[in-house]
Parts: sequence; C-alpha cells; structure tokens
Amino acid sequence: MIHNIMPDFSSLCGSCKSQGCCTDSAVPLVFDSDFIELKSIGKATNEFLHDRNVNGNIIKAINKKKDSTECVFWIDDKCSIYHQRPFDCRAYPFDILKVNESYCWIVYSCNPDSDWSWAESYLQDLEKDRAFSEVMQKVEIFSGNTSIILPTESEKTPYIILRKVRY
Ligand code: SF4
Repeated sequence: MIHNIMPDFSSLCGSCKSQGCCTDSAVPLVFDSDFIELKSIGKATNEFLHDRNVNGNIIKAINKKKDSTECVFWIDDKCSIYHQRPFDCRAYPFDILKVNESYCWIVYSCNPDSDWSWAESYLQDLEKDRAFSEVMQKVEIFSGNTSIILPTESEKTPYIILRKVRY
C-alpha cells in the first residue's frame, strides 16, 4: 500500500490555507455527470452556474460570489456541496495537462521536490471516477497547455508532472 509508506495528501497539505479554486481565481468546470449531481440537490441553476466559452465550446462552470474570488458554494470556510462537488474539485490539486502531445496528470504543489509516488493511488481512483470518461472524451477542448481547471491555473501555480493519463 503506497499510502502506508509515504505521507498522504491530507497530511501533506492539510494545514494549507490557500484553498485553491474554492477561494482563488480558478473556476471549476461542471461536466454533464456533475450537472446531474448538482441538479439532484437543486444547485444547477443560474444562481450557481454559468456558461464558459472554452476554445469555442460552451461548458458550464461554477459561479463565484459577487465581487469575490470565493466559490458560491464556499460557506463557513468549507464546501457546502462537498459530496456533490464536481470532478474538477474532486481531482484538485491534481489536474490534466497536454505535455508533448500526451495528456498527463500533474499536481499543483508548493512541494515540487517531494516524493509524489504515493499519489499514484489517487490517480487510479480518479481514472475510475464516474466523470472520468466524459472528461477524457472532451479533453481535446482543453488543448495546448490549458488545464481542465479554468482560468489557466497551471500558469500561476507550480506543478509537477506525475505520469501520462491512462484512458
Ligand atoms: S464546489 Fe466546493 S470544492 Fe469546488 S470550488 Fe466550490 S467550495 Fe471548493
């Protein structure tokens, strides 16, 4: 078990106050299966979601609070829809980037020199996620060096390339 050997993500990053896309400028996308989940709890309306043009494709994304970088679902310092949060949020701080014509898993990190081998079990879980096949069907939309978390989180946050995506 990799998790027994190396520190896991929660112990490595649990004290971080950055909170990434929850309170920062990054905007999580909402794929079709995510939309169904949000709709089931009445959170798929314009109050919570908007349309984004991503390289000519209209994709739904989560709103920020008015005049704020905080996600509309960020309430009392936590995610108010944690069990229905979209794939982008479930995946973070992992993301997919096209590197040398291959889609690769990356991890945003303030610890670029860490041994990230323990992260492999997370990647395998993400590749079994209910939204993963849809994400990979649409991944060409995020061509070039654009990540699936918008706007281009990868341009402002250090990241490490972990391995190629298996799909
Ligand atoms: S949906 Fe939840 S996990 Fe995702 S950005 Fe908003 S507050 Fe954070």
